[in-house]
Amino acid sequence: MAKPEPSAFLPAAGLPIVWAGQNAWRCLDTAYGSGHAFVKVWDAWRRDDHRPRLLHYVGLCAEAPQSDALLEAAKAEPHLSGLVASLAHLSQTITAGFHRYSFEGGQLLLTLCMGDLSKLLRQQRFQADTLLLDPDPKLDRSDGRWDLWRVKALARLSRRGAGLALRGHTAMLLRPVLQQCGFVVPDKNSSEPAGVVRAEFQPAWVLKNSRHDAIEPAVPVTRCVVVGAGLAGASVAAALARRGWQVVVLDAAATPAQGASGLPAGLVVPHVSADDCSLSRLSRSGVRMVLQQAQALLQQGQDWENTGVLQRFPSGNDDSPRPPPIWHTQAGWVKPAALVHAWLAQPGVRFLGDCAVAGLQRQGGLWRVLGTAGQVMTVAERVVLANAHGVLPLLDACSNAETSWTSELTWPVLRTVHGQVSWARHADSPLEALAALPASPVNGAGSLLPRVPLTAGLAWLAGATYQPADEADPGEQSQHAANLSRLTRLLPDLAAPLATMVATGEVQAWRGSRCVSADRLPLLGPVTAGADQGLWLCAAMGSRGLTLAVLCAELLAARWGAEPLPVEASLARALEATRGRSNAL
Ligand SMILES: Cc1cc2nc3c(=O)[nH]c(=O)nc-3n(C[C@H](O)[C@H](O)[C@H](O)COP(=O)(O)OP(=O)(O)OC[C@H]3O[C@@H](n4cnc5c(N)ncnc54)[C@H](O)[C@@H]3O)c2cc1C
Repeated sequence: MAKPEPSAFLPAAGLPIVWAGQNAWRCLDTAYGSGHAFVKVWDAWRRDDHRPRLLHYVGLCAEAPQSDALLEAAKAEPHLSGLVASLAHLSQTITAGFHRYSFEGGQLLLTLCMGDLSKLLRQQRFQADTLLLDPDPKLDRSDGRWDLWRVKALARLSRRGAGLALRGHTAMLLRPVLQQCGFVVPDKNSSEPAGVVRAEFQPAWVLKNSRHDAIEPAVPVTRCVVVGAGLAGASVAAALARRGWQVVVLDAAATPAQGASGLPAGLVVPHVSADDCSLSRLSRSGVRMVLQQAQALLQQGQDWENTGVLQRFPSGNDDSPRPPPIWHTQAGWVKPAALVHAWLAQPGVRFLGDCAVAGLQRQGGLWRVLGTAGQVMTVAERVVLANAHGVLPLLDACSNAETSWTSELTWPVLRTVHGQVSWARHADSPLEALAALPASPVNGAGSLLPRVPLTAGLAWLAGATYQPADEADPGEQSQHAANLSRLTRLLPDLAAPLATMVATGEVQAWRGSRCVSADRLPLLGPVTAGADQGLWLCAAMGSRGLTLAVLCAELLAARWGAEPLPVEASLARALEATRGRSNAL
């Protein structure tokens, strides 16, 4: 029996006709294989004048996609070579887990998920519009993979009316199971075993809300107010605007990025831990996502650089053996303010400065956002509080009945931690210091960015200190000394020349404040548990706003749009804003 090519699955699924005029479309491909079917869908989306604004493609795979096979398959289709080249380059190095790639200015999102099929299905939280059941020709006898439990998992991820394209002979073999789970399968006589057929998720029963467990229904795309124009707020605004939202971003300061995101330049590097904790796993996804944004929006070499970063594990006070250094290829430095400005300049986003938000009122399904004189500054269907340390004072100032917020609902800990970066222009640094600068950024005990082109000139930056807000401020010089002491362990050759510079006052300081949660993970989700009233938090980026802001923004937008999540559902849950609150509503 001839194996149907992946391209046969598109017309069987009704693509591209079924997605015409839709705001967003979500495809689930249960056997991504080389990515051939994805490239076909991408190409169809590109050519279609009525394409959806946003196309999600989730590809499940047991092993890393074979780029050679894709390049080979594309030889016969030279018009696909551009798409194939960009894809082959990206997916070579993937490891187990979820990997999000952004194309076409963020309008086409690929989520590659590698691992065991059942586990991958369990970690999805979205409602698919189109499902491709094993379009990879290698899985021609794939039906053995599809027992009742896996088909049930597919049904859980299908919206009513979703189309499922599958081989004719698979449809015949799985007919009882598919029907039991709510799929309408074409008549036996009308299916061609060697061809591809379309089943439809059209259960004869009323779908219970509990069916979707934690899959939240999509909210209508309307207006949103974001409070705070730092990395967190600006990235949320851009992610929503890409999906058609009208977003107003308010900040108490006159211009954006005046809080912690005013940091001259920061490190973007995965967090490393012996147990590969949630922060480590989230940071790997976050780094990839922010570097893609930087690549798309910023000037390389001027606003950011994918330099790679050396992670060292310098010895502490004990003599325990230290792990060998790690070289992170996907890492570098980014100027946060440049990203914030680029996000706020996206169509659909409006920034309003000098707008300190002092209250929120809910009236007729809308949020009224109040200024310090009680005036209504703007109204919207939804509000995101991305104002870091400003979150709790603002919530406490809001009327309990309207926000469902009561001051007893505090998080166990949401701390302010001040910090200082020490920096100097190369032009002001002695030759011994310049000679001892490493070729690329180093992270470990503190960090060092050796070459960043600031407005003042080419500079090195070392940091940063951690000074809890409830402790006395030790002053700028003492903070320089703290940064220097960590550098002594990280890069001993730099210590002596920099000590001289600190002593002679040639080192500059940049100071800011981080908003940190108890478990060092951001808070992302509705302010209160229970019915979603449209008041959300995106805050507590801690020391890793650059790494985590894009991930959080995409996660928020995905949850609002019932879209595929950029990370495993269990990881997304770790960020829930109500976590750890024993008295969550
Ligand atoms: C010294 C130091 C070094 C750092 N180094 C790094 C690094 O190398 N890599 C990295 O990834 N991260 C680093 N960080 C962390 C990073 O800077 C933060 O995680 C990130 O900037 C936080 O972004 P944010 O948008 O949550 O907060 P902010 O940038 O602080 O933005 C909050 C905004 O909310 C506004 N606001 C507050 N209240 C209100 C209100 N009521 N109404 C209207 N507006 C309001 C504020 O004006 C502010 O603009 C560092 C931080 C510090 C302090």
